[in-house]
Amino acid sequence: MINGHTQLFGVLGTHVQHSLSPIMHNAGYQVRGINAVYVPLRASAVQDAFAGLKALGFTGVSVTVPHKETIMPMLDVIDPVAKKIGAVNTLVFSRKEERTVCCLGTNTDWIGANQALAEVATLAGSKVLVLGAGGAARAIGFGLQEAQAEVYLANRSEDKGRKLAAELGCNFVSLQDLPALRADILVNATAVGMTPEANKTPIDASFLRHFSVVMDIVYAPLKTRLLQEAEAQGCVTVSGVNMLLYQAMEQWRLWFGEEAPKAAMREALAQSFEQKP
Ligand code: NAP
Repeated sequence: MINGHTQLFGVLGTHVQHSLSPIMHNAGYQVRGINAVYVPLRASAVQDAFAGLKALGFTGVSVTVPHKETIMPMLDVIDPVAKKIGAVNTLVFSRKEERTVCCLGTNTDWIGANQALAEVATLAGSKVLVLGAGGAARAIGFGLQEAQAEVYLANRSEDKGRKLAAELGCNFVSLQDLPALRADILVNATAVGMTPEANKTPIDASFLRHFSVVMDIVYAPLKTRLLQEAEAQGCVTVSGVNMLLYQAMEQWRLWFGEEAPKAAMREALAQSFEQKP
């Protein structure tokens, strides 16, 4: 029951109406009997929104597109990993005597991606091709290197891709050279293939047989065209929903200092996909 003691959580971004994070986190609160609520926080004016979160006494917030980088200068503390990645997706607020005294920013996207992949592959020593050079590719590229994988990055806008590869200290591969690349794992960290353009795919199906594992971080639709084509080529596939789940579980650990209720959160996600036409 929501009352004067209910802890406030949410996801801050401009397109959060369809976010699955509220479904996942609220299912977790229910199963653990925690007096908390997690809501979509739709806002484009990030500075005003951040002041509001502090004034209203939020406990924890997920940050998504387009605020992951722009919110950073407003935070009191940014953990070294998020600083290195250059983006935060999680805020942890501390309060004293009804006042917010500190806001820590951190990043759990890379942990989510690594854990999703680690269920089916050994990352250390693997060669991984990451498609994309946006915020997600940045976090995933960082995380894979932390896990001792050998990372290759490709992107539609070559300059942006080269710049990110240089910042991450990984290899860059141009789109023309992709057909010759041999790697163990492919990660799509672009937005290509997402509803309503679910008929699109970021890479030609004929290249997919070169990879053992293919992960698509796009999770709407659940089985993207890339994952369908990868499956048809005999690859092991990993859905972006798994990354979403694991990054949320890490947020839970930061907010509550305990392991997240994985089964309840996973079940809530599964049900939300079943309910979609
Ligand atoms: P972003 O910063 O806007 O970056 C978008 C990336 O996609 C860029 O590399 C961009 O290439 C590429 N791209 C977009 N449209 C393209 C097209 N038509 N053809 C080729 N490349 C294209 O976004 P982001 O934050 O990295 O997120 C990327 C995707 O990951 C989104 O769909 C997001 O929902 C999803 N995501 C999933 C999770 C999860 O937990 N599963 C977590 C975070 C993000 P250019 O540089 O050439 O523009």
